[in-house]
Amino acid sequence: MLKIGCHLSASKGYKAMINDALKIGANVFQFFTRNPRGGNAKNIDEKDISEFLKIKSENNFGPILAHAPYTLNACSKDEAIRNFSINTMADDIQKMELIPNNYYNFHPGSHTGQGEEIGIKYISDMLNQIISPTQTTIVLLETMAGKGSEIGKTFQEIQQIISQTKYQDKIGVCMDTCHIFDAGYDIINKLDDTLYEFDKIIGLNKLYAIHLNDTKNPYKSHKDRHEKIGQGFIGIEAITKIINHPKLKHLPFYLETPNELEGYAEEIKLLKSLYKD
Ligand code: FE
Ligand code: FE
Ligand code: ZN
Repeated sequence: MLKIGCHLSASKGYKAMINDALKIGANVFQFFTRNPRGGNAKNIDEKDISEFLKIKSENNFGPILAHAPYTLNACSKDEAIRNFSINTMADDIQKMELIPNNYYNFHPGSHTGQGEEIGIKYISDMLNQIISPTQTTIVLLETMAGKGSEIGKTFQEIQQIISQTKYQDKIGVCMDTCHIFDAGYDIINKLDDTLYEFDKIIGLNKLYAIHLNDTKNPYKSHKDRHEKIGQGFIGIEAITKIINHPKLKHLPFYLETPNELEGYAEEIKLLKSLYKD
């Protein structure tokens, strides 16, 4: 069965999210741990969490993907920004243990002029500080489009981060289709080669999740503007191959396309119809 869902608003809590997911035919979903621009996490509501966990287990849901605020930057040249990022992510991961065995995704960061090597070191250091060997949450590095000084635009950079961490069994990768196409991986014509490369450099056993997005910009644009499924430069044919690829089809797919719930429901319906069990 296709594991498919989308990004949902977390403003009304876990139970509201999973009910929204059920309404639109999703069996996984993603949410921001707090306002994407940073800011405080909401207080813990134990009743909300226990009701959510009950609905989740009754409905055969796949992994829930929490997304760190995208404004965090663990490898900024500004120490205060780095420290804020570390503290925020440490707090997020701790809260994720209240809904155990799920995923926490973050953007590796932007080196802001210091160069890739220093940036990569900061990101690995951060992971070494915030990950504990006993946590159940898997922390995912997201593949990036390479706008500005973003790190994570190549599989090599992701591998270099992971290779300098202590608890590698708690770390994985979330592959964003818009981002890798924008970064210069030709997933339209060379999906097999791209996955071969991923396997050789990082290892496909490290791939836990896919952000399934089309893109508003052509190949190698380094832009990162998501488009609705089938309406961008990746196109429905390539997306159909992605969700059905023998090396990917078991993974959870999370839509981050510019949609409200109705639009997501349509995309989920379409993708289910294109999926071969
Ligand atoms: Fe992201
Ligand atoms: Fe993404
Ligand atoms: Zn993006």
